[in-house]
Amino acid sequence: MIEFKNVEKYYGDFHALKNINLTITKGEVVVVIGPSGSGKSTMLRCINALEEISTGHLLINNIDLASKDTNLNHVRKNLGMVFQHFNLYPHRTVLDNITLAPMKVLKKSKAEAEAKAEELLEKVGMLDKKDAYPSQLSGGQQQRIAIARSLAMEPDVMLFDEPTSALDPEMVGEVLEVMKNLAKEEGMTMVVVTHEMGFAREVANRVIFMAEGEILEDAETEMFYENP
Ligand code: ADP
Ligand code: ADP
Repeated sequence: MIEFKNVEKYYGDFHALKNINLTITKGEVVVVIGPSGSGKSTMLRCINALEEISTGHLLINNIDLASKDTNLNHVRKNLGMVFQHFNLYPHRTVLDNITLAPMKVLKKSKAEAEAKAEELLEKVGMLDKKDAYPSQLSGGQQQRIAIARSLAMEPDVMLFDEPTSALDPEMVGEVLEVMKNLAKEEGMTMVVVTHEMGFAREVANRVIFMAEGEILEDAETEMFYENP
């Protein structure tokens, strides 16, 4: 589903990703850990085609992102991304935040988009807030809405870049719970950059440890914790 083959990424002279080889298959939950600046975000942004790789190949559903014929918007449509900051539209209600893209990009009718949005709001425990505005919600609630908004595009893969890092500690649990359900109940393929080791241990199939742009360890979760 996601395949890095000898991928290098430079920002100018700075070598941000070094010979990355990685295959992530359908249904896997992969947690990426490592110190700040080790290239975790860069790796996610390359998957989402927000950054271009410098050399090598990166395939998403067997489509080579570097190929001239590839329509990146088409690839991006199948990838949901959740960031540290939720970036909800402040002047739109929760429901509108979730239905806008499906109506515009997937050409869903308003009724169809709203039915799907309500189903997702129910899953993230936020249906009662569908008419609220983002500023009326806590950070944890906003992040749950951001997750629902990504899911509304019906992605094959969800990418999470430190989804709980900007939250007050008491709100971390509710967001991790939504992510856990997504993994365990929906079988969603997920790549998660996080410092939440409890989540990694409980939910991930694999843990990848990065440092200075390299993958130093890529192991099944149990192995990872047995060999510290
Ligand atoms: P992490 O997510 O592990 O904290 P990042 O992928 O954000 O690491 O960054 C890896 C390194 O690449 C850092 O040293 C960062 O400063 C650098 N970097 C990230 N984005 C850019 C950019 N757009 N231009 C130049 N350097 C960048
Ligand atoms: P995060 O850790 O949340 O990913 P960062 O501060 O690493 O946030 O990056 C935020 C943005 O700044 C990204 O778009 C990244 O590409 C850019 N960026 C990060 N480091 C650099 C850098 N050294 N030079 C230029 N842009 C950078």
